[in-house]
Amino acid sequence: MLTDAERARYARSIPLLGEEGQEALRRGSVLVIGAGGVGSAALLYLAAAGVGTIAVADGDRVERSNLQRQILHTEDRLGENKALSAARAMAERNSEIRIRAIPEHVSRRTLPELARGYDFVIDAADGPAAKLMINDGCVAAGIPFCHCGTSGLRFQVMTCLPGRTPCVRCAFGSPAAGGPGSTLGPACGAAGSVAAAEAVKYLAGRGELLTGRLLMGDLAAMSFRTVPLARDPDCPTCGAAASRAP
Ligand SMILES: [Zn+2]
Repeated sequence: MLTDAERARYARSIPLLGEEGQEALRRGSVLVIGAGGVGSAALLYLAAAGVGTIAVADGDRVERSNLQRQILHTEDRLGENKALSAARAMAERNSEIRIRAIPEHVSRRTLPELARGYDFVIDAADGPAAKLMINDGCVAAGIPFCHCGTSGLRFQVMTCLPGRTPCVRCAFGSPAAGGPGSTLGPACGAAGSVAAAEAVKYLAGRGELLTGRLLMGDLAAMSFRTVPLARDPDCPTCGAAASRAP
């Protein structure tokens, strides 16, 4: 049962999600890896939406050059760990949820333990190596996750239900070389908003997920499209050989 305070707070969501959907959000848990531009939008919307348990992992500190797009962080938190800054920003918006700050970089070694027990993971990390690490870890653990990427004014998002829908390696193969690039806040925000919507839909059991397709947006051209994806039977992460591996 929702409390009267929850009915008031979520009055605009309950018509869409139902009381049972809102209760499912309260029971739900999401781990967001990365409290940068994409993570900022995702985390703020998840906290506001009433996801009951939200964890955020990031080992970096807030720098002045982050403020242009990473709307979780503020001038007075320059130098603070980003996961701790993110936790403060979420707590200011919703005191009725549980927030866990993980002030460290997630690695292939630590991901299984950190992600254990979470219903959904959002990849808001930087760089292809981290994204493939999150993909491999979530597929191995069987945890649904949303992959996000941004470059300049372009962004892309897909959701994977491990063992059922294409994973990131099915879609992209091996990681491309890349480094910190230029980007604008709205591109990060678009990807993070879509990821938050995927998490909310998954937890509440509403709508159609971005599975088996990749959403690609370009805010310079203002074009948005989805391209279909298929599982790769030879995928090293989720293909037949991977599932036979010990
Ligand atoms: Zn795959």
